[in-house]
Amino acid sequence: MTTRTADAVIVGAGVLGASVASHLARSGHRVLVLDRGAPGREGSGTTAGNLHMQAVHTKRPGQAVPLDSARFLPLQRAASDRWETLEEELETSVEVRRTGGFTIAETDEQCRELHDKHGWEAAAGIPTEILDGDAARAALPLLGPTVAAATWCDLDGYANPLKVTPAYLDSAARHGGRTLAFAPVRRITRNGDGWRVVAGHGAAERVVDTPVVVDVAGPWLGEIAAMAGITLRMTPVAIQMHATVRSSATMSHLVQHIGEGLSVKQVAAGNLLIGGGWPALSMDLAGRSGTSLDSLVGNVALAVRVLPFIRDLRLLRMWAGPLAATPDEMPVIGEVPGAPGFYVAGGTYAFTFAPLWGETLRCLIEGKPPPVDISDLGPGRLMVPAGGSARDNGLEQENPQDRRSKRC
Ligand SMILES: Cc1cc2nc3c(=O)[nH]c(=O)nc-3n(C[C@H](O)[C@H](O)[C@H](O)COP(=O)(O)OP(=O)(O)OC[C@H]3O[C@@H](n4cnc5c(N)ncnc54)[C@H](O)[C@@H]3O)c2cc1C
Repeated sequence: MTTRTADAVIVGAGVLGASVASHLARSGHRVLVLDRGAPGREGSGTTAGNLHMQAVHTKRPGQAVPLDSARFLPLQRAASDRWETLEEELETSVEVRRTGGFTIAETDEQCRELHDKHGWEAAAGIPTEILDGDAARAALPLLGPTVAAATWCDLDGYANPLKVTPAYLDSAARHGGRTLAFAPVRRITRNGDGWRVVAGHGAAERVVDTPVVVDVAGPWLGEIAAMAGITLRMTPVAIQMHATVRSSATMSHLVQHIGEGLSVKQVAAGNLLIGGGWPALSMDLAGRSGTSLDSLVGNVALAVRVLPFIRDLRLLRMWAGPLAATPDEMPVIGEVPGAPGFYVAGGTYAFTFAPLWGETLRCLIEGKPPPVDISDLGPGRLMVPAGGSARDNGLEQENPQDRRSKRC
């Protein structure tokens, strides 16, 4: 058994792990990324890939606690700037499309919410414009008659998730970073002032000593933290996506709903991708989850109501993907109190935030001020005192089907 060293061991080769690896490697750190499987196959390979810059709907279907949109928006503004320069930074195309997006409202209450949202966006420096239903249909004639109003935001967009994570890992590799796939992390122990990380099995076992561990294991973030004796209240959740066959109609904008779980866009090949956080069947922690027929029907019916042309398209495929939810639905990022050198990042909208969180983690690890205020987003708020467990705190994973039935 050979013990190696690294300046930072990154656990998880999803988009967050790849982003922080690239940021650290470009700054001269020797990084090692470990993944139990192939890189970019879990949340980051199943994501819708939307770049959410105007406020998102505050509750995905079944979500117990609404998202604090006003708090989220300054982070979205900062993330937006970083997506603007990402392809240049990574020296390749990741199919970033900033073609703008609509968030639509159908009821009077939702129209009022659109106005509140518009105010928060203005305060955060995110330019949005309010349109009545006719003006929205004039701008996007594919919108249906139930659309009563919409906000338009130039900054919304999407990128190809199957390109983003590999491009970040390539960028890290060009600067000396290494990625080991199929190397499951099994043990993390304190080792002097740093950490000892053991990954893989048998002849493939690796032992790495490092001052810095970055736990970006997505839905398994809590499991990895537990190896280091840290109990974090995180809940793995599985949600699903639906893809239609190619459409001859052209829709270059992202369409979301202010009050219900909906995001629709057309990818370069012409297929429509329909999502919005509808729950898949319960996720087992091997990471597999079946798709839910209820969610298929609910999500697609909503899409057809808002964009009636979808009614004529056949469904090509549907899939489920895992994500990590925090009890307050806000992202988590920072060093774990009492565990120097152990950093975590994950949670809500991690695809949109990947460029920002990669840079933020680099700054924290280098002892520099982060580019945005993350003082209220640290892992301390999720920690369970010694002897407790995430379950004691009511965070046992609910069956998404149960949550679905509580949807308002
Ligand atoms: C269907 C769906 C749609 C979404 N849509 C959007 C969207 O439109 N916009 C947006 O911003 N966000 C969206 N999200 C959320 C976002 O995409 C994900 O949260 C994000 O990609 C997660 O990235 P990550 O790097 O944190 O985790 P992941 O991509 O899940 O990566 C975690 C990695 O950790 C590895 N790992 C686990 N255990 C171990 C171990 N023991 N040892 C080593 N490695 C381990 C896993 O194999 C995995 O590769 C969506 C998520 C899903 C599922």
